[in-house]
Amino acid sequence: MGNEPDRNSPGNGPLLEVRDLVKEFPLNRGFLSRYRKSIRAVDGVSLTVRRGETVGLVGESGSGKTTTGRCILRLIEPTSGEVIFRGENILKLGARSMRETRREIQIIFQDPYGSLNPRMTVGTIVGEPLAIHKTVPRRERRDRVAELLKRVGLDPDMMRRYPHEFSGGQRQRIGVARAIALNPSLIVADEPVSALDVSVQAQVVNLLQDLQEEYGIAYLFIAHDLSVVEHISDRVAVMYRGKIVEEAGRDQLYSDPKHPYTQALLSSVPIPDPAADRHPVLIPEENPGAVGPAKGCSFHPRCPAVMEICRERVPRLLPVGEGQKAACFLYEKGSDPAS
Ligand code: SF4
Repeated sequence: MGNEPDRNSPGNGPLLEVRDLVKEFPLNRGFLSRYRKSIRAVDGVSLTVRRGETVGLVGESGSGKTTTGRCILRLIEPTSGEVIFRGENILKLGARSMRETRREIQIIFQDPYGSLNPRMTVGTIVGEPLAIHKTVPRRERRDRVAELLKRVGLDPDMMRRYPHEFSGGQRQRIGVARAIALNPSLIVADEPVSALDVSVQAQVVNLLQDLQEEYGIAYLFIAHDLSVVEHISDRVAVMYRGKIVEEAGRDQLYSDPKHPYTQALLSSVPIPDPAADRHPVLIPEENPGAVGPAKGCSFHPRCPAVMEICRERVPRLLPVGEGQKAACFLYEKGSDPAS
């Protein structure tokens, strides 16, 4: 048997491989439209998720992480690129095949209230995927819903109640029960705990980890909170203005971040020990909604290490160590940081 992985086999290769994903949105009409007709919310993102692992996708609001997640699920159609799931480019699938694939890729939304239909009982909400995909005979659906509610830590008797009767944490558990109903192999978790109280966040994260251990589910865990991502992720990708600017194993990224943006993000994460020796990297605030620089590294207006070349050219995401990549001229050979 050769060593070459067979990507077409469901048993080998990455579960998900995103290649050069781009999503452009038209800019509102106005004087800007004379110069730029669209903005790239996702600008050439490539990432892989292996079976049973968690990849954290982090960045500030507006970095393109949520759009990336939605493009992977085709809740938004990408402008270009490939989304290879189990060896198949799902962007080329017709409606029927895509519906089948959606059994395997589920989503947990940030707002557990907004994502649950207030007019449906919890039993109907959790049972809906089972009804749509007809994976469980009608007479067994109720038992399966009860089992799912129990699995996420809710009383099965609650299935007759409505979403407004639950706390935020309970509602997110309902969202999790719905997401695992079809035994998916990948869940895109889009800021799944950021709307919850800190005390409840850990419970939901622990639940997701338990489910991963039990069912081998892989997560693309989208978040802006780096401490939550550190807790749950095997690998982490950092996004800035539509691009991945750094990617590494969790321990490596948190102990030795290379990209100045990652360094700034990590230096602002609260730590429990007030006596710890730490030097925050201060960067100017991002102006919400501002269009990025027309050329060069998109981080250069905020970067404390900016060089001349950064204003002219776009850095490539290149290896900077074992299993670590960064898009920064500080590490790109031949870019002459001294210039
Ligand atoms: Fe900063 Fe230049 Fe690196 Fe961009 S390429 S992050 S501006 S040093």
